[in-house]
Amino acid sequence: MFNYSAPALSLKGKVILVTGAGDGIGRSAALAYAQLGATVILLGRNLDKLNAVYDQIEALNAPQAAIFPLNLETASEQSYIELTDIIDQEFGVLDGLLHNAALLGMRTPIENYDPITWEQVMKVNASAPFHLTQSLLPLLHRSKNASIIFTSSSVGKIGKAYWGAYSVSKFAIQGMMEILADELENTSNIRSNCINPGATRTAMRAAAYPGEQPENNPTPEEIMPAYLYLMSDDSLDINGQTINAQQK
Ligand code: NDP
Repeated sequence: MFNYSAPALSLKGKVILVTGAGDGIGRSAALAYAQLGATVILLGRNLDKLNAVYDQIEALNAPQAAIFPLNLETASEQSYIELTDIIDQEFGVLDGLLHNAALLGMRTPIENYDPITWEQVMKVNASAPFHLTQSLLPLLHRSKNASIIFTSSSVGKIGKAYWGAYSVSKFAIQGMMEILADELENTSNIRSNCINPGATRTAMRAAAYPGEQPENNPTPEEIMPAYLYLMSDDSLDINGQTINAQQK
């Protein structure tokens, strides 16, 4: 596992937005950031799941979270403007942005890939992070040290049969992260990096690998050190990199 141990309350005072915060890795990241003192904005498409995470954060006695329900597949330009305006009014700044939400789509040859599913996956996994980042950059610029984390995958580095739009979207995310890191280096206090979580025990993993024993993979909680490191001020010099959350 990536080796980092976060000092207590090391994210105190930071405002961090997590997409796909209702389940899986995003849920764990939201809880872990809150536990270290951050105010977390929970973004996702399922209000019940977001409310449950909100309650868990409250039970931790962590700073009160905020909820922004948004379906990234159908989000309009107006939704991104509203989100940005609300964060501006409530907090005036954004210190961290974790692009975590994603759809798996189909596992099938390109020849058979359903075009509608292709568009859905590209929208949620690649276009939404672009719109969200572009809209929120003015608030990230106001932070003393802002961190943008994208979520990559091993199939976003080497194309593999049947991974279709998911794989293409992860190649796109890797490129977006590198372009942004290059653009923001030396001109801002914003850094941009990727985390490749590696095989992790979530609903998406179970859907992608139905024959696998879930308990053979680490839980989302276990892969948190990389997420905490890149969000903390201990990673100020890290820009344009991809960290493997399960690196030995
Ligand atoms: P999950 O499917 O468990 O969680 C994904 C989250 O994204 C869910 O909360 C889901 O909402 C949300 N989401 C999906 N579509 C939308 C949408 N249209 N609008 C808003 N939110 C949406 O996946 P993981 O936790 O496993 O994956 C997290 C990230 O890690 C993804 O980027 C994934 O590609 C990446 N990854 C995961 C690996 C693994 O082994 N688990 C390996 C490599 C990369 P809802 O709860 O409503 O479904």
